[in-house]
Amino acid sequence: MIWKPWEGYMAPFKLFGNIYFIGTRPASTHLIDTGDGLLILDSGYQESLYLVLENMRSLGFKPQDIRWIIHSHGHIDHSGATRALLEMFPHIKTYIGKDDLDMVTGARDTSWAKEFNMVFNTFTPDVLIHDGDTLTFGNTTFECMASPGHTPGTFSYFWNAIGDDGRVLRAGTMGGAGMNTLAAKYIHAEHLEAEDWRGHYGRTLDKCRKQHCDIFIGNHADQNNTAGRYQRLIAGDKDAFVDSSAWLQAIDKFQHAYDKVITNDPL
Ligand SMILES: [Zn+2]
Repeated sequence: MIWKPWEGYMAPFKLFGNIYFIGTRPASTHLIDTGDGLLILDSGYQESLYLVLENMRSLGFKPQDIRWIIHSHGHIDHSGATRALLEMFPHIKTYIGKDDLDMVTGARDTSWAKEFNMVFNTFTPDVLIHDGDTLTFGNTTFECMASPGHTPGTFSYFWNAIGDDGRVLRAGTMGGAGMNTLAAKYIHAEHLEAEDWRGHYGRTLDKCRKQHCDIFIGNHADQNNTAGRYQRLIAGDKDAFVDSSAWLQAIDKFQHAYDKVITNDPL
């Protein structure tokens, strides 16, 4: 893979209330200003960290004020920059779903780095997240929902976002939607046949469907049409990301892609 991170540049922006987009086109990173320090949701690729840091600064935030990094899962596009951030700011506390621990410590080489011909710099998370955990960071409390399938330790997060006008809206992420790890070839190569790998993903979609979200935060820009909504935002629509139908539409899209894999790519 020839990696030119600058080609993935996206302008940073305030998404809603205390939620900011500071990521890139290939890998979303969000910042939440908790009032008691900054929380980063997915660090992105190490190669594009300079863009993420520059994006933070241009919005008026200081990277040294990051207190927490929460990961949707352990793949290189979501946690690849965490080690570099920890080396710069050792006080940062890191969180990941308990079943992706092996991935980020390097005990299992499943960070998707080898497929991208990249290097994953490992780290040891401070906190392992369990299904149903609630985690409070300043003014923000995350409800953590285990969402295995894309990876064993994928987590979806839901929290109350507070708008500038005082509105409290439920924001949420679907922690891992990609179908790359559901391919029969991948499952055989990683010897995952016995783990009902695809079944986990299907059950995760069922759990997601029961959730309500006013603001769907994509962990890749195409999930929630980040770029298109940004255009509406800068054109004056302050609620461009407030859309209570976007979540279920996305889950339906993932379900459709999942059903296609099951039909067209038998194990
Ligand atoms: Zn992934």
